[in-house]
Amino acid sequence: MSDIIESKLASGERLTFCDGVRLFREFDFQRVGMMADAVRRELHGVNAYYIVNAHVNPTNICKICCPLCAFAAAEGDVRGYVLSVGEVLERVKLAVENNVTQIHLVSSIHPTKPFAWYCEIISAIHEAFPSLQIKAYTAVEIAAFADSAGKSIDEVLSELRSCGLSALPGGGAEIFDEGVRKKIAPNKISADVWLEVHRVAHKMGIVTNASMLFGHVETYEQRVEHIIRLRDLQDESIKLQNGGESQQFISKPVWAAGFAPEQPLRDATLACPASGISKQLEYNPVAQDQNAPSIQSPTQSSTGYFDCFVPLVYHGQNTQLSRTTHIEPISPQDILRTIAVSRLILRNIKHIKSYWVTLGESLAQVALSYGADDFDGTVFEEKIHHEAGSNTPSGLTEQHLQNLITGANKIPVKKN
Ligand code: SF4
Repeated sequence: MSDIIESKLASGERLTFCDGVRLFREFDFQRVGMMADAVRRELHGVNAYYIVNAHVNPTNICKICCPLCAFAAAEGDVRGYVLSVGEVLERVKLAVENNVTQIHLVSSIHPTKPFAWYCEIISAIHEAFPSLQIKAYTAVEIAAFADSAGKSIDEVLSELRSCGLSALPGGGAEIFDEGVRKKIAPNKISADVWLEVHRVAHKMGIVTNASMLFGHVETYEQRVEHIIRLRDLQDESIKLQNGGESQQFISKPVWAAGFAPEQPLRDATLACPASGISKQLEYNPVAQDQNAPSIQSPTQSSTGYFDCFVPLVYHGQNTQLSRTTHIEPISPQDILRTIAVSRLILRNIKHIKSYWVTLGESLAQVALSYGADDFDGTVFEEKIHHEAGSNTPSGLTEQHLQNLITGANKIPVKKN
């Protein structure tokens, strides 16, 4: 029997906080997955997006010392490093030689490096490789630059943009609930400040991502609250752009036709051996690649917005949090349900990421049938989640990424 939540989704009505909690606590996990998959197909057909990208982390020396973090090192720690601008450029050059089109550049909060150093890095990359996208510095770093340089968020972002910054990554959001933040990252900026940095970036026309680190000490309610706060900010940003009109990407009643395509041409079963989860997939020929439903992105460049929501699974190895707090390992079902609920609530954010670095390759493939549509990228030399115990490779070839996507019965679509 149809539930009120399914009726709301069918009519384009927004899900509430209580709906989100019910999807976690009352609904069968496969049913939530089917609903999210229907929304995903409505938006993207069988496309799954990826990018050829590389990560560069100029330093890991950090004064913030978040218990959740395995990447950072205190000043004087033998694990600590600082790359020179020349060394950063060398890494970027190598990445460009490997056809990378986007650099994901994030660091820690170094105790003494001035804002000018971070600007110099962006300028050097941009001057050497002007067509390269530079997605750089989390909201935590932007707020720290403003603090150390005595500038406003607006001024910091303007300077970085004039140096060549293209977009902001979504890191540092963790879980917005302040009680949880006190446990996992007590010295980090508050949720309000994180949101304010992205609000200012959007107003300036900078596109950003948003993330949520889950699977540690948070509750389902706190996950839902986090997702809804992101939806609210996206509303604000899109309204600004549309002259006061809100917008969501899905308005058609996808449920009217039921969950499965009427005439699937080809069926396949996708399995995650580690979790025992398998899923029968339907192949819908109507929605492949260029025939996928077109998505109305915010159109003006005068205002930015969240392009992608990145659900990040917590890995606790080598973290103070896991040494001092018992944390039950999160189940694959819980991970997939969280991705699916995100897709269902965030109807105003275009992409939901299946971040293979923290999910593992097999579960990331399965997630493409639980609401996710973006497989991230080649992620050459990821360090932050690997230091915390992620045992995925530290980078994948483009061919391998494409094989994973086609193995999940989706069509790989390369983003530039
Ligand atoms: S999460 Fe970021 S701010 Fe916190 S300790 Fe790690 S690098 Fe520093």
